[in-house]
This record gives sequence, structure tokens and C-alpha cells, in this order.
Amino acid sequence: MNQPTELISHSPATGVEIGRYPNTSEATVHELVARAGAASHQWRAIGYKGRKTILKAWAHYLAEHIDELAGLVSLETGKPISDAALEVAVGIDHLAWAARHAHRYLRKSHRAPGLFMANMSTHVEYHPLGVIGVIGPWNYPVFTPMGSIAYALAAGNAVVFKPSEYTPGVGHWLGESFNIVAPQANIFFVATGGPETGAALTKSAVNKIAFTGSSATGKKIAATCAENLTPVLMECGGTDPAIIDRDCDLARAAEAVLWGAMANAGQTCVGIERVYVHEEIATRFTEIIADLAKELIVGHDYGAATMPKQLSVIDAHIKDAVRLGGKFVVGSAESVQPPFVLPTIMVDVPEESLAVAEETFGPTLTIRAVSSMGEAINLANASKYGLGASVWSKRNGKAIASHLHCGMVSVNSVLSFTATPTLPYGGVKQSGYGRIHGQEGLREFAYAKSIVATRFNNPLNFATFKRTAGVDQFIKRLIRILNR
Ligand code: NAD
Repeated sequence: MNQPTELISHSPATGVEIGRYPNTSEATVHELVARAGAASHQWRAIGYKGRKTILKAWAHYLAEHIDELAGLVSLETGKPISDAALEVAVGIDHLAWAARHAHRYLRKSHRAPGLFMANMSTHVEYHPLGVIGVIGPWNYPVFTPMGSIAYALAAGNAVVFKPSEYTPGVGHWLGESFNIVAPQANIFFVATGGPETGAALTKSAVNKIAFTGSSATGKKIAATCAENLTPVLMECGGTDPAIIDRDCDLARAAEAVLWGAMANAGQTCVGIERVYVHEEIATRFTEIIADLAKELIVGHDYGAATMPKQLSVIDAHIKDAVRLGGKFVVGSAESVQPPFVLPTIMVDVPEESLAVAEETFGPTLTIRAVSSMGEAINLANASKYGLGASVWSKRNGKAIASHLHCGMVSVNSVLSFTATPTLPYGGVKQSGYGRIHGQEGLREFAYAKSIVATRFNNPLNFATFKRTAGVDQFIKRLIRILNR
């Protein structure tokens, strides 16, 4: 079947058409990657300083046009405009950080040559990979792909970005804005389109794919990339836990956990989906968070579900929880009211239920009382996902955080790691691998090249067929002395 040539973007809240964008064909994707590959040498040649100037100019442009971009994000995703502006602001902060720090973390670094190679000078250089294919989701259409785009560009790569089919307008806008500030052409392409356009990018001549999206799609992409050994960075889903100890500030914990669970209609990869709370404070915590949840105004505090098909997933998770004995503290079996989902909090939901074990991606939360923090840690770690977590305790927060098997933890806060450009961001297990943000995020888009150069000739020449018995004896004696 022929792919439609156009992609139509709709408002999830009203269904009204927002815009039409090309549904980029496989042939065009391959052509864009080739053009980006050819231009990438020019981008590399201007060096860190040259790229910093252009990326800072882009950050400035985005900051000056934050209302326009946030308006588009709000229109395409259905999120409140203030949330959209916050998302854009954090995305700009990452762009500026990557621009300012790429040289510091990717510059040549000298290494010790070691005793055997004492006559050598040794150093490591970081080189850009070439062209990075970035595939993004719709839930944070600026912040999420920017974690790859900004860091990849700052490291000296060209980028071809395939935004989600639900947010093509935001992707298109980002591409246009870069080209307004960058004198070089063909460095940052945006290829709007559906999953087929993404699949075409994974089969193209890109040097790496940076994917953010569901774990199910991530597995398909990893399989395709395996055919050419194209490296992949995987930022996938999660079912993030909040662990609440009895010595925490209960009111703050309830307020923040509610926001972490329900903001953006729960469509946050690092959104809180399950709470493990100490049994001594469980009733009080549940009462406070339930009272706060009942005050939320749907359509004002959070918007419509961006992706209509997610509504049936959320509904199935709620019904499965009910079937397995879960009880509503807030909401009901009719919480899904298209295009919205009402705040839903449940207790007595077994760990094997879909609501706890799988990513719900809606404004829902399960709360379970535990007898100790050890039990909370074990339950948190039992998930097949391991993206983020939130821990609430005055005394033991950092210790609990250290025991969690996941990529990021906020102690006495939620989601704070997202807005901290110095910190690497990513998951373990089925939440993915590789890191965006921070120095690790810059190095994700570079390869290390080791260079060993002879400073003076070693009288004990190892690398020759003429190696003497005396040299052999010396090697054995030296390694024994070093390992006594
Ligand atoms: P998705 O997996 O449906 O789609 C993501 C992107 O992949 C889209 O651009 C889509 O067109 C593309 N795609 C789909 N099939 C493809 C294929 N076969 N080959 C190549 N590309 C393909 O995810 P979504 O619904 O857009 O986003 C929500 C998911 O993203 C959630 O699971 C959420 O947890 C996750 N997410 C993770 C992070 C993170 O940083 N870990 C951040 C945001 C969202």
C-alpha cells in the first residue's frame, strides 16, 4: 500500500486540524541522511567554538519565541500552556548547557602510558559520529528530542530528526528555527512522518539512532539497527515508583507525588505510577493525596490524552486492577471519559496487575502500604522497568536511593533530574540503555579514539620478531614485581 504523502496534525482536545506536513518517504529520508552526511564535515570543521556560537544563538531564538513554540506544543499535545512553556524552558536550558560544555568534556585528554609503554605519549580524542537519527515521542515534543538533538549537534554531528506523528508541527518548527540562526545548510533536518518514516531512518546510513519512545517500539528499532550494527540509544518507558518513609514531610510528599503522577495527564515517561508508603503513615498519606487529587480541574490542571488509542490502555489497566481486588480512593471504573481521564487513585492493587506492572501513561496512581523500606525497595526493583524514582525521607533518602535499580532518583522531590543538565538521564532494564544529558550525554554522540605516539625508542623493544630472551625475562620479572 502506498504511504499517504501528507500527515495531518489534530488538536487532541477538540479534534480540529492544526496543520499538514509531509509524510516523508523512505527515499527522501535516505536522501536527507546523505545530504546531512556530506554537510557534517563542515559542521565538524567549525569546531566547538563555532558550534557554541550557533547553538547559543538558537537557544536565544527559542527563548525569544517561547510563547509561540509553547502555544504549538499546547495545541498539538493538549497540555496546558504553562506546562508547555516550562517544557520549552527546560529544553532550552539543555541546549545552552550542551553548547557551553561540549568542548570541556570532549576535548583531547592525556592518559598515563603505563610501565610497558613508558616511552610513549598517550591521549584520547573524541570525534563526532557523523549523522545522528533522532526519533522522538509526542509527550514532551521539545524537551525529549532536545536531549539528543542538542547534545548530538554540540558534539559535532549533523542530525535528522523524525518527530512523533502526533506532534509534527513542533518538529517542523524546531527545524525551521535552527535554519534561521545557522549559516550552514543541511546540518539539522526534520523528517515529519509516521512509523514508516522512523523505520526508514533506522535502515538508512545514519551513524547512530537516538530513540525515545515506548519499549515495544524500542525493541523493533534495536532489531532493525542490529542488521547494520548501527548503535542505538534507547530512552524507553517506565512505571516509576515513589517510596515514602515515615519520617518524611507528608504534606510536601503528597503534593509533589500527585503532581509527578498526574501532570501532563500522566503522560510522562518518569511520571510516578506506584507508591510504596510506610504502613505507619499510609492512611494519612492516602487521605492527603486523595483530598488534593479531588481538587484537580481536568482541562485546566492537565489536558486531554494526546494519543486517543492510549485511552483504551488506561481503561484496561483500571478495569484489570478492579478485577484483581483494587479499590478506588479517587476516581472510578468510569474514569476514562474521552478525550480526558479523571484523576484516579487506587489501593489494594496487586503487583501483578497491569496498573502496577505495565506503563499506564495516564493520571492514575496505585498506593501500597509496606512494613519497611526494605520491602518498598524490593517491590520497586521487581519491575521489568528501571527508569526513575522518587524517595521521601528526611534521614534515609539517599541510602534508599542507592538501593534502587534504576537510572535516576529524586530525593524529597519529583522529576528534578530532568531539569539538571549536568546529570545523565536514562534507564536500565526495559527502560533502555545509553544516556542523554550531562557529559555522558555528550559522549554518547562521539567515539573515543586512542592515540599512542612514540616519544623515544625503548631499548627493550617488544614489538619485533627480534625480541631477545633477555627482554622476555625482563617482562616476566616486571609483571611479578608489579603484582606481588
Ligand atoms: P512510540 O514508541 O509509539 O513512538 C515513538 C516514535 O517512534 C514515534 O516518532 C514513532 O513514529 C516512531 N516509531 C514507531 N514505530 C517505529 C518503527 N518501527 N521504527 C522506527 N520508528 C518508529 O512512543 P510514543 O507513544 O510516541 O511515546 C510514549 C512512550 O515514550 C512512552 O512509553 C514513554 O514512557 C516513552 N518516553 C520515554 C522517555 C525517556 O526519556 N525514557 C521520554 C519520553 C517518552
